[in-house]
Amino acid sequence: MTKNIKHVRHQEQSCPKCRLKIDSATAIFNKEATPNVGDFSVCISCYSVLRYGENLQLHLSSVQEAENEQFGLGRQLEQVITSIRQVNARNNRDSN
Ligand SMILES: [Zn+2]
Repeated sequence: MTKNIKHVRHQEQSCPKCRLKIDSATAIFNKEATPNVGDFSVCISCYSVLRYGENLQLHLSSVQEAENEQFGLGRQLEQVITSIRQVNARNNRDSN
Protein backbone atom coordinates (compact mmCIF):
# COMPACT_ATOMS: atom_id res chain seq x y z
CA MET A 1 0.00 0.00 0.00
CA THR A 2 1.10 3.50 -0.69
CA LYS A 3 1.07 6.33 1.79
CA ASN A 4 -1.89 7.88 0.00
CA ILE A 5 -4.22 5.01 0.77
CA LYS A 6 -5.87 5.21 4.15
CA HIS A 7 -7.60 2.39 5.90
CA VAL A 8 -10.27 2.83 8.59
CA ARG A 9 -12.36 0.46 10.63
CA HIS A 10 -16.09 0.99 11.04
CA GLN A 11 -19.00 -0.83 12.56
CA GLU A 12 -19.22 -4.37 11.24
CA GLN A 13 -21.92 -5.13 8.72
CA SER A 14 -22.45 -7.62 5.93
CA CYS A 15 -22.18 -7.21 2.19
CA PRO A 16 -25.82 -7.02 1.00
CA LYS A 17 -25.04 -9.53 -1.74
CA CYS A 18 -22.55 -12.14 -0.49
CA ARG A 19 -22.83 -11.51 3.28
CA LEU A 20 -19.11 -11.02 3.69
CA LYS A 21 -18.43 -9.26 6.99
CA ILE A 22 -17.18 -5.78 6.25
CA ASP A 23 -15.70 -3.77 9.07
CA SER A 24 -13.30 -1.47 7.32
CA ALA A 25 -12.89 0.69 4.28
CA THR A 26 -9.89 1.66 2.23
CA ALA A 27 -9.98 4.99 0.50
CA ILE A 28 -8.36 4.91 -2.89
CA PHE A 29 -9.41 8.14 -4.55
CA ASN A 30 -9.79 10.54 -1.65
CA LYS A 31 -7.48 11.39 1.18
CA GLU A 32 -10.47 11.14 3.49
CA ALA A 33 -10.89 7.47 4.36
CA THR A 34 -13.83 7.87 6.72
CA PRO A 35 -16.91 6.71 4.82
CA ASN A 36 -19.66 9.27 4.41
CA VAL A 37 -23.28 8.86 3.38
CA GLY A 38 -23.38 8.56 -0.40
CA ASP A 39 -19.85 7.20 -0.75
CA PHE A 40 -19.28 4.20 -2.98
CA SER A 41 -17.39 1.05 -2.04
CA VAL A 42 -16.57 -2.30 -3.60
CA CYS A 43 -16.93 -5.68 -1.89
CA ILE A 44 -13.60 -7.50 -1.98
CA SER A 45 -15.36 -10.86 -2.19
CA CYS A 46 -18.16 -10.56 -4.78
CA TYR A 47 -17.01 -7.28 -6.40
CA SER A 48 -20.41 -5.69 -5.94
CA VAL A 49 -20.52 -1.91 -6.02
CA LEU A 50 -21.84 -0.82 -2.65
CA ARG A 51 -22.93 2.55 -1.33
CA TYR A 52 -23.11 3.96 2.16
CA GLY A 53 -26.64 5.04 2.98
CA GLU A 54 -28.24 6.39 6.13
CA ASN A 55 -26.36 5.47 9.30
CA LEU A 56 -23.60 4.25 6.97
CA GLN A 57 -25.54 1.10 6.15
CA LEU A 58 -24.18 -0.49 2.99
CA HIS A 59 -26.58 -1.23 0.18
CA LEU A 60 -26.17 -2.53 -3.34
CA SER A 61 -25.32 0.03 -5.95
CA SER A 62 -23.86 -0.19 -9.43
CA VAL A 63 -21.16 1.19 -11.65
CA GLN A 64 -23.92 2.97 -13.58
CA GLU A 65 -25.25 4.66 -10.44
CA ALA A 66 -21.76 5.90 -9.63
CA GLU A 67 -21.27 7.16 -13.16
CA ASN A 68 -24.61 8.97 -13.04
CA GLU A 69 -23.58 10.58 -9.77
CA GLN A 70 -20.23 11.80 -11.00
CA PHE A 71 -18.82 11.58 -14.50
CA GLY A 72 -15.85 9.20 -14.53
CA LEU A 73 -16.60 7.66 -11.15
CA GLY A 74 -18.07 4.49 -12.62
CA ARG A 75 -14.95 4.04 -14.70
CA GLN A 76 -12.78 4.49 -11.59
CA LEU A 77 -14.83 1.87 -9.76
CA GLU A 78 -14.36 -0.54 -12.67
CA GLN A 79 -10.61 -0.06 -12.33
CA VAL A 80 -10.85 -0.75 -8.59
CA ILE A 81 -12.81 -3.95 -9.27
CA THR A 82 -10.16 -5.05 -11.77
CA SER A 83 -7.42 -4.38 -9.21
CA ILE A 84 -9.20 -6.34 -6.48
CA ARG A 85 -9.70 -9.25 -8.89
CA GLN A 86 -5.98 -9.23 -9.65
CA VAL A 87 -5.04 -9.16 -5.96
CA ASN A 88 -7.45 -12.00 -5.19
CA ALA A 89 -6.12 -14.06 -8.10
CA ARG A 90 -2.57 -13.52 -6.86
CA ASN A 91 -3.50 -14.49 -3.31
CA ASN A 92 -5.25 -17.64 -4.55
CA ARG A 93 -2.14 -18.64 -6.47
CA ASP A 94 0.02 -18.06 -3.40
CA SER A 95 -2.13 -20.29 -1.20
CA ASN A 96 -2.27 -23.16 -3.70
ZN1 LIG B 1 -19.94 -9.11 -1.36
